[in-house]
Amino acid sequence: MKTDVSSKKVGTGRSRSYQTQAIIIKQTRLGEVDKIITIYTPEFGKLKAVAKGSCRPGSKLGGNVEPLTHSLMMLARGRNLDIITQSQAIDVFPALKNDLWRTSCGFYILELIDSFTVENNENHPLFDLLLDTLHRMCQDDNSETILRYFELHLLNYLGYRPQLRECVICDSPVKQTFNFFDPDRGGILCPGCGQEQPGARPLSVDALKILRLWQSCDYTTARRVKLGAGLRLELEQVMQGYIKYLLQREVKSVSWLEELKK
Ligand SMILES: [Zn+2]
Repeated sequence: MKTDVSSKKVGTGRSRSYQTQAIIIKQTRLGEVDKIITIYTPEFGKLKAVAKGSCRPGSKLGGNVEPLTHSLMMLARGRNLDIITQSQAIDVFPALKNDLWRTSCGFYILELIDSFTVENNENHPLFDLLLDTLHRMCQDDNSETILRYFELHLLNYLGYRPQLRECVICDSPVKQTFNFFDPDRGGILCPGCGQEQPGARPLSVDALKILRLWQSCDYTTARRVKLGAGLRLELEQVMQGYIKYLLQREVKSVSWLEELKK
């Protein structure tokens, strides 16, 4: 689902204020009544901006700068951080927020976006992926497929697309057998090369087929794949192992998702 609200500069020259769509990623307190809001935008990528007075009861900004909100914002340029002067919610994703599991998936998605991106680096396809993923989380029960599809395409748009066609060491085409996935090299190792790499983990033929399909198909096609519990777990472990390697740390919200599954 796309929202036809384009970003635009207001005024002339180096504009003092501008309008943008924004997905709110997180907020941190700044002094008594203000907050610093981290947002993801189509034209400017990730930004941090100040929401003045948003901790005051009855603040007009308050609810519209909460994480997991898609807003239309007006910002004024500041010396250090820009200032959010208006925020009008386009979607607050009620179906996502009314369910603990979906909310937690939503926070995992936001954490990945925050962890993998730097400020002021435009990535329009990534904004679209983020927005589409949050809508999918509201409409579709297939949360594991939504998350894996999101992870694969996030990595794609950030230049970490895993190599799944040829062995990343010897370059031979990958055969339909038990291969290995090596997070360190970002792709598949053939059985011969994989056995010698301590960081590589075995990867089943079915998991490889699904990763290849999901890497290149649209979400409507991806969601048609029916997964058994074993394969779901394998895909989750492969993707999260690779993400952990790339970030060189655990993703905090993963442990919370694990708790909820128990
Ligand atoms: Zn090889």
